[in-house]
Amino acid sequence: MKDTAKHQGLRNQLAKILEAKGITDQNVLDAIRKIPRHLFIDSSFESHAYQDKAFPIAAEQTISQPYTVAFQSQTLAVKPSEKILEIGTGSGYQTAVLLHLKAIVYTIERQHELFKKTASFLPKIGVKPKRFIFGDGYKGLQEEAPFDKIIVTAGAPFVPNPLLAQLKIGGKLLIPVGNETQIMTLFIRKSQKEFEKQELGDFAFVPMLEKKN
Ligand code: SAH
Repeated sequence: MKDTAKHQGLRNQLAKILEAKGITDQNVLDAIRKIPRHLFIDSSFESHAYQDKAFPIAAEQTISQPYTVAFQSQTLAVKPSEKILEIGTGSGYQTAVLLHLKAIVYTIERQHELFKKTASFLPKIGVKPKRFIFGDGYKGLQEEAPFDKIIVTAGAPFVPNPLLAQLKIGGKLLIPVGNETQIMTLFIRKSQKEFEKQELGDFAFVPMLEKKN
């Protein structure tokens, strides 16, 4: 679990690449520069860690592309102490970015092997979500609702109603919607019943699946 000056240099370069692609939020770029992404992937593939691409982790899942993580984080406009629900913990890299932005993070993963692996890894690098839950993100997390922000990091075939219902008024749900590829979709809760919807471009995620029992 080493983090060296070379890794730091690669992170600085990655942050520059993301800036060139349109990431302007300095706190998000700072997270990219500080968080040792190479520790979130298998050490034999370390050389891929600071390229701007998705990469396989355990159980046929991927760690999201850095640009995607930065884009989602910037779009959510995370502020300190906000209560955020993340669906699809995966490697925990996006979780670490949200925590770097000083959010209070609740995160859900449905793949058990990955859940166990990430649950044992995150404390080793001091990444501490408020709760890390093995469960089905389609249901959200009713007992902790409402949330300021909800971020989904898997491709959802449809928008789960519980996620909309668990937003505060003024809160935001950011979710990639679609099957083969997805449209990044932002919902802003305007009132109890009204949501504003914005479509923010095409992305590619692994699918959001319902929990196996
Ligand atoms: N943010 C993660 C992305 C991982 S890929 C990272 O950067 O590493 C998406 C993750 O969503 C996978 O780990 C997958 O197992 C998980 N997932 C898929 N469907 C889910 C569901 N219904 N509830 C919770 N997690 C889900």
